[in-house]
Amino acid sequence: MPYGELDLIREIRRKSLRNSEFVRFGIGDDAAVLRPRKGEDLVITTDFSLEDVHFADFHPPFAAGYRCLARGLSDVAAMGGRPLAAFLSLALSPAWAEDRTKTREFLRGLHVVADQFGVVLAGGDTAGAPGKHTVADIIVVGAVPWGKALLRSGARPGDGIYVTGRLGGAASEFEALLANPEAFRRAKPDGMHPHLFPQPRIAVGLRLLRLASACMDVSDGLSTDLHHLCEASGVGARIHADVVPLAPHSTLDQALHGGEDYELLFTSRRSVPRRISGVEVTKIGIVTEGKKVSLVQNGHERRLRPGGWQHLISQNR
Ligand SMILES: [Mg+2]
Repeated sequence: MPYGELDLIREIRRKSLRNSEFVRFGIGDDAAVLRPRKGEDLVITTDFSLEDVHFADFHPPFAAGYRCLARGLSDVAAMGGRPLAAFLSLALSPAWAEDRTKTREFLRGLHVVADQFGVVLAGGDTAGAPGKHTVADIIVVGAVPWGKALLRSGARPGDGIYVTGRLGGAASEFEALLANPEAFRRAKPDGMHPHLFPQPRIAVGLRLLRLASACMDVSDGLSTDLHHLCEASGVGARIHADVVPLAPHSTLDQALHGGEDYELLFTSRRSVPRRISGVEVTKIGIVTEGKKVSLVQNGHERRLRPGGWQHLISQNR
């Protein structure tokens, strides 16, 4: 049976009624009422999840919903934020409005990651999409200690360059998914599925408040994101190919340019532990003077061009 708007809102509200210290009033009034603690700044990020751009037919809708919020949470992690509330605007395609299981699974995925990170779904909007694609837009609100948000602009020559976890896994899993979607129908958010269920590094980001000089998440690929960070900081970088941590089954090319790993890329002039909150941390290079971003491989240093994703799915079609 097709969805009416009221049904959809009821479905979204079903698991979103609780409030929190931060969300004084969530869904159910004209607007949400949020109350940050004294001495905190808010960090706010917004991310589209567009059908046929960020997810497609071959994605289980549960994973599409999970990724929708996980991507926003990763941006909050990159700022060193505590995630507090999310807002979802959802426009259903005719196919999704007809098929309740798709929408229900999408919302279930979103609620699973919200529960995992203690985020309250505090509002949103629903509509029928004017075209044939489902459109979701997620806003995530987090808090950081006043004036302490981790920015891209704080890297200085001599700082070490670090990444969390392993890179290239999202790109290699995406290829495997394209080749055989059936094999991923029952995939779970168990930390083994970097493309379908990326794990936002919230706990690491909180620890980096005291350690990092600059930070961002690796969403567009290391090569591209490192350029973003260097540009914002007015510095260059030299990284070493043989220490870039590769995810299982992935290549150096996927690790450098694949994108969507949602790990953290940060710089620090302090001594950085090799594990933070259970996540491995690898030093991959050093911040340099000037603007050049380079890769040392087999003893040769060459310019590392930004080769990251534009749009993973459209690019691969
Ligand atoms: Mg980001």
